[in-house]
Amino acid sequence: MNKIHVLDEKTAGQIAAGEVIERPAGVLKELLENSVDAGATAVHINIEGGGRELIRINDDGCGMSPEDLAASVLRHATSKINRFEDLNTLHTFGFRGEALYSVAAVSRMSMTSCTDGGDGSRLEIEGGKVLAQSPAPAIRGTTVEIKDLFFNVPARLKFLKSASYERACLLKVVEESALANLQVGYTVVSSGREVYRMPAQPDNSAQSVLARAKEILGEEVAGSLINKDFEELGLRIFITPPDKLVASRDLQFMFINRRPIESKTIQQAVYRAYQNVRPKDRHPAFIIYMEKDPASFDVNIHPQKRDIRFADERGMFNLIMKTVTETVFAAATAVEMKPQVAEQPAAPLPVLDEKISTPAPAQSTELFESKAPEISAEPSLSLTENAFTPRPTFMLRETDAPAPQSAPVAAPQPIAKSVDTNKKEPAWWHGPYHYLGQLEKTYLVFENPDGLVLIDQHAAQERVLYEKYLDAFEARKVTVQDLMFPIHVDLPPSNAETLMSWADWLKGAGFEISQFSPRTILVSTVPSMLRFKEDNMKAFIESLAQVVGDPAKSDDTLKRKMVALLACKKAIKAHDQISAAEAEGLLENMKKCRDGMHCPHGRPCVAVLGTKDIAKLFGR
Ligand code: ADP
Ligand code: MG
Repeated sequence: MNKIHVLDEKTAGQIAAGEVIERPAGVLKELLENSVDAGATAVHINIEGGGRELIRINDDGCGMSPEDLAASVLRHATSKINRFEDLNTLHTFGFRGEALYSVAAVSRMSMTSCTDGGDGSRLEIEGGKVLAQSPAPAIRGTTVEIKDLFFNVPARLKFLKSASYERACLLKVVEESALANLQVGYTVVSSGREVYRMPAQPDNSAQSVLARAKEILGEEVAGSLINKDFEELGLRIFITPPDKLVASRDLQFMFINRRPIESKTIQQAVYRAYQNVRPKDRHPAFIIYMEKDPASFDVNIHPQKRDIRFADERGMFNLIMKTVTETVFAAATAVEMKPQVAEQPAAPLPVLDEKISTPAPAQSTELFESKAPEISAEPSLSLTENAFTPRPTFMLRETDAPAPQSAPVAAPQPIAKSVDTNKKEPAWWHGPYHYLGQLEKTYLVFENPDGLVLIDQHAAQERVLYEKYLDAFEARKVTVQDLMFPIHVDLPPSNAETLMSWADWLKGAGFEISQFSPRTILVSTVPSMLRFKEDNMKAFIESLAQVVGDPAKSDDTLKRKMVALLACKKAIKAHDQISAAEAEGLLENMKKCRDGMHCPHGRPCVAVLGTKDIAKLFGR
């Protein structure tokens, strides 16, 4: 057996680095936090090769003396806390004194820094080893340059994704930092191309938030945000009203004390506030700022300091739900709500992200103790293989909150049975049928020797289209149609970057895209079998960034299915009025489908009302 020994400094450093930084975006996040902590009013960021080759950040903050510069890369070197108790009163981002030490351990790093009126100094480090320190020009501020990240940790290197994926992550970090620190100006140049130039805002007023939001969310979304401040509660809410919801779920930002965070509690509270007015495939864009006593929440549960646990999760849920409701619906009285939105049945809470299946700490079960939260799988976003078979209407949250102990209630039995999925070809399938007509412009009614067969016309059309398109896609035989006028889609640059990294793949799907500007994507072809209205096309592209960019959905077959599903959902379906021949043609096409019994989202599209059931209705 090996003897116990203390890890050498180099190995220890690399392990520590693994906890602090997973990818280039993690490095940039730490460096940006340091610049903001140093009181910078302008930061310039340069990226090459998705951050793997180079991340350089220059700030005009307080700088460091030559001695501090040398000390800054030591483990647990920090100017921000002295004692453990300081953690509770912390108002800076950094505190562990690990970031520079960790980054230095896994890269070739140089830092140049100078305080006001002090001496400039430059430090060079490689794989954690200080190579040299030398005098440098006395320009106040700090420049940190990271080259060849993970050059000495091949395992980490392998784990990195394409340069454009990493670039998208880097931009996301900048976007969050920029929304959190309005009075700091940011420029970002990636591979020689300027992606962002955001001037410092004069203050933290709502106007400044909106000006910044415009640069990040785009003019249209930012322009639709409504704002309400709840000063005494330390809350500022900027959110899209029900008639301006967006297709993407990516435009949701939350901050506590200017720190970007993730909190399912908060996200779910927002969705709860929208539950009666939100169509399933539309999402609020929002920026929520919270100022909270650092003692009332714990940011330390995750090394990357994102997931927040509140001392009073339930209180937080209620607070956010109430304030969002007030923000949105106080304003909504003035907003004419589209009937189509208002009449939508309550859209259930979405499954908020892939991490939903990770077990959460036990205390969060009491989050919703009175109402066991029921979150329905949302087809377009939580699609898994089994979404192609009927899915359960409700799933419990990951916390396994106990189901409500309700007394059994006899549910009204629908007379028309939807067709059993397992039996692929029911009796009426082959039998002669006769088209009787259309009900509510939605259901096609056929009779056959066994009774009545009802077809959900739109669901059936979507199924037929979906299989046809998916087959072509899988066979790499999607024929395309050039758009006379390419469609412009505005996206946050990080999303545009993600999409562009999938451009070749999307070409195979029939969508040819190109980048018009850091935030604008041009769509120049669509599959010939799909037709889109411009708005739907935009919504499709916005959601697409989410589907393709999510590493959890890396399986290619699954991705193809998701993209096909999304495309067919947004495509224009045949007109409502349908001739007998068209109705019969549709039924025949359904029979040819692999799963003609269900729409692509798993809902049944056929129901049978047997002659026996009909007889029963009349007491025969
Ligand atoms: P932490 O931020 O947790 O203190 P870091 O390793 O990120 O730890 O940084 C160590 C120290 O180096 C900081 O506490 C700060 O004093 C100094 N420092 C780092 N970056 C900068 C910068 N851009 N400007 C001025 N000082 C900096
Ligand atoms: Mg730091």
